[in-house]
Amino acid sequence: MLEICAIASGSNGNCYYIGNEKDAVLIDAGISKRQILVRMNEKKLDQAKIKAIFISHEHSDHMTGARVMGKHLNIPIYVTAKTYYGAYKNMRPDYPKFFVPGDKITVGEFQIHSFLKNHDASEPCSFRVEYGNKNIGVFTDIGEPCENVKSHLRACDGLFLETNYDEKMLQEGKYPWYLKQRIASTNGHLSNKQAFELLANHAGENLQLVFLSHLSKENNTPEIAYNEIKPLESKFKIILTSRYSAGEIYQL
Ligand SMILES: [Zn+2]
Ligand SMILES: [Zn+2]
Repeated sequence: MLEICAIASGSNGNCYYIGNEKDAVLIDAGISKRQILVRMNEKKLDQAKIKAIFISHEHSDHMTGARVMGKHLNIPIYVTAKTYYGAYKNMRPDYPKFFVPGDKITVGEFQIHSFLKNHDASEPCSFRVEYGNKNIGVFTDIGEPCENVKSHLRACDGLFLETNYDEKMLQEGKYPWYLKQRIASTNGHLSNKQAFELLANHAGENLQLVFLSHLSKENNTPEIAYNEIKPLESKFKIILTSRYSAGEIYQL
């Protein structure tokens, strides 16, 4: 049995839990150790199960708690060398385990597939976690879906997918021009519309759960993101995530 939960999701911090009866991994640790543990306790998720943390890229909303969490639990933090050296020193884990994008890493009975994606970081990666015949993707911070994203998506039963911004809200919003350009660029973030098109054209037959993830506070609302993806709800369940608290635990 697989349990999955968004501990934190939003442009201010990301942390995703994927576990079974014995072991668990976290994808990203972009909020403080304290907050991760408080939120896990609230959901009765056992911190002792966490055997590794995988870091997607060095932006603080993915890495802020990594060093302290690794030290606290005495577990490896998987990170690419470029991501490690691209990060602020105070976020760099004491004992990093370096991987190369494309590597498949075994943790307990989980296989974690890593792959490169388009985003404005040193070496941005996403992950697909395989357990038995189930696959969970964590695909956030994607300027434009590349072939890697599309092919790993086809294997997913569950998916944390970025729906970062509503295109109209971004264009009409108060962000400065350069920042709007950055977010909308092919190395920025995935809009609600891009997420819809990706799912409509490339989701596999097995996809059951889609968590709308990494929403911008300024340029999106949960309702707008949900309504954009809603035409696909006969194919899979659409679940909202929160920046303020851990979401419900789903089993697959
Ligand atoms: Zn980022
Ligand atoms: Zn991010």
